[in-house]
Amino acid sequence: MEFKKCARCGCFFMSANNVCCNCESKDRLDISRVNSVLDESISFNSIQDLSIASGVNINNLNRYIQNKQISDLNINL
Ligand SMILES: [Zn+2]
Repeated sequence: MEFKKCARCGCFFMSANNVCCNCESKDRLDISRVNSVLDESISFNSIQDLSIASGVNINNLNRYIQNKQISDLNINL
């Protein structure tokens, strides 16, 4: 296994994931927050709206979208 740079905090770690083990739990929390916001709301016009509604920052949102970790995304990107 190689050293990787954590996609969230930038530290180096060894794992098969994209984030270090500290950030894994933060990611999970963010994703569940985003999913519950998406469950409740109709749709968002932009990532920014979703970021404000969920309290998750845009960089992380983009990463979850890229990794397909967010379900049911009603955003017109
Ligand atoms: Zn990290």
